[in-house]
Amino acid sequence: MYEQSINDPVPFWTPIAKQFHWEEPWTTLHASNFDRNAGPVSIKWFDGAKTNICYNCLDRHVLNGHGDRVAFFWFGNEPADARTVTYSQMLERVQRFANVLKALGIKKGDTVAIYMPMIVDLVVAMLACARIGAPHSIIFGGFSAEALSERIMDARSSVLVTADGAFRGTKFIDLKSIADTAMEKCKTRGFEVTHCVVSLNSGDKAPHSVNMVQGRDQFFHELEATAELECPALWVDAEDILFLLYTSGSTGRPKGVVHTHGGYMVWTATTFKYTFDYHPSDVYFCTADIGWITGHSYIAYGPLLNCATSVMFEGIPTYPEADRYWAIVEKYKVNSFYTAPTAIRSLQRFGEEMPKRHDLSSLRVLGSVGEPINPEAWIWYHDVIGNKRASVVDTYWQTETGGHVITPLPGCTPMKPGSASLPMFGIVPAILDKAGEELSGKAEGYLVIKQSWPGQMRTVFGNHERFELTYFSQFSGAYCTGDGAHRDEHGYSWITGRTDDVITVSGHRMGTAELESAMTTHPDVAESAIVGVPHEIKGEGIHAYVITNPGVETDVSKEKELKMHIRQEIGAFATPDVIHFTSGLPKTRSGKIMRRILRKIAHYEEDSLGDISTLADPSVVQELIDSRPKLQ
Ligand code: ATP
Ligand code: MG
Repeated sequence: MYEQSINDPVPFWTPIAKQFHWEEPWTTLHASNFDRNAGPVSIKWFDGAKTNICYNCLDRHVLNGHGDRVAFFWFGNEPADARTVTYSQMLERVQRFANVLKALGIKKGDTVAIYMPMIVDLVVAMLACARIGAPHSIIFGGFSAEALSERIMDARSSVLVTADGAFRGTKFIDLKSIADTAMEKCKTRGFEVTHCVVSLNSGDKAPHSVNMVQGRDQFFHELEATAELECPALWVDAEDILFLLYTSGSTGRPKGVVHTHGGYMVWTATTFKYTFDYHPSDVYFCTADIGWITGHSYIAYGPLLNCATSVMFEGIPTYPEADRYWAIVEKYKVNSFYTAPTAIRSLQRFGEEMPKRHDLSSLRVLGSVGEPINPEAWIWYHDVIGNKRASVVDTYWQTETGGHVITPLPGCTPMKPGSASLPMFGIVPAILDKAGEELSGKAEGYLVIKQSWPGQMRTVFGNHERFELTYFSQFSGAYCTGDGAHRDEHGYSWITGRTDDVITVSGHRMGTAELESAMTTHPDVAESAIVGVPHEIKGEGIHAYVITNPGVETDVSKEKELKMHIRQEIGAFATPDVIHFTSGLPKTRSGKIMRRILRKIAHYEEDSLGDISTLADPSVVQELIDSRPKLQ
């Protein structure tokens, strides 16, 4: 299948795509240009076709007699909160909410911002957007008011769907208050959110009642209850925008990755089916948040397109106890389970006793995503959770790729702990050296993809030039992933991490540039440089070098203040572990910060600093070593 998929894409993809409903057929299965010298970069799949991904997720299954199948077993933060929703119930709710959006003035092409916890209303809202051709822009519920307002304004979303709040363990997340602040920020910057729809999630359990602004805010359930039941799916072009989703923004302003109805549909459905070896009657559980791409592709679209039954979980793995995931697996006899290495590492810390409390024998496939999984965690996952029997699929992919691009297939690809192994159907990876020469055989270098695939991102929202510059300028004629990889003698890929600078804390990826610019918005901070440091639980922690303005007292209370500042600017997950005050940073003569040296110092590896002769002022290195704070 793989050989055919890369050599002969038309006969490969045609029968796969024909499993879906296309109101009008495509004229060209695929056309793309990766070479900027040959004109604008463009990617098109199933061009000329009319379809709708929401119709394919819901109506198609209900019409085929599967309306009573469970779409989601929803599980709340409290184990007593459980609900089941079938495909026909989803269809009814989505139609009503699509009518709600229309009544609020949303038309095809208008973006809708969604800032919600992991509740069924979130999936209802996203599918309702898709149904009427309105691109959704989902913003992870852990983001601060500042980050939320930036994303609302970038996409110009005049409607925001949110919730009163959510509990994560015992902690209350005051979503509506954060949303209020974000909407205020937008207003002072000249952009108005005209309607805010509020799902009542925490209700009476919340520490205070929800603030509703007259004329702007309305309750989700009230609007839904009075909306018309029927809203046929709008037939849109296969290449019309389905959603935009902001990545962590390693190069400064976050970029809105754009995916479309047709290609993304075929790609998420196919990768879901093969990577998890999905069979009807299977129960699948992905622990991601829908605010990230994993939730978009593998909680919402991929499973729904396959008419699968999924568990959707609002809570955290350690509440009320650290066996929550395993209790869920036992309760619903979960067959495939998908999580991140950071979660595996943190649960591993609680020992084997937690998983041993539960019958996990239903598990057949164990997925991993988000960062390279270290072999130690891989082996624990395989041996303790999978009872040495389940297949581990280490899925390598990106927001930009829409779905898995390098991954083992269960029962098919021999596994190696720590390797994402072989390419998915239609994916032609290559490893290049710095000069752009393709390396053969065993090699290490820049990971690129040479041919287009259906789920590839189409553009950066509102900025096609940025799309071309980010992904197609470093090496011409290939999609540049920005990650490094090493290919072994069996052709297996081992992802070595990104070639630029990004920090991953507990699975949340953050660009150092975004963190640094947030730090420097503090009035006392002159300059900042941020590097990741290894952290046993979180994977990486944050070491922030800070140069303050003259006369500022650099004491413990200033440290606390700066940590709080980052929490407010970006979110709690971005809180620095170490604030390291200094009077200077190692810079090249051209003014570029030498992060390599900062990393060495933060990692206590000053013995191997390497060549520092190109530094403008080498004396700064000793100062940094001497002023290094003790790790807490
Ligand atoms: P930005 O592009 O703004 O920096 P991001 O890259 O952090 O955002 P994502 O698209 O969620 O946002 O993350 C994709 C990245 O995660 C990949 O490029 C890769 O570095 C890493 N990654 C994901 N899965 C794996 C995996 N299985 N093995 C190794 N690395 C992985
Ligand atoms: Mg990225």
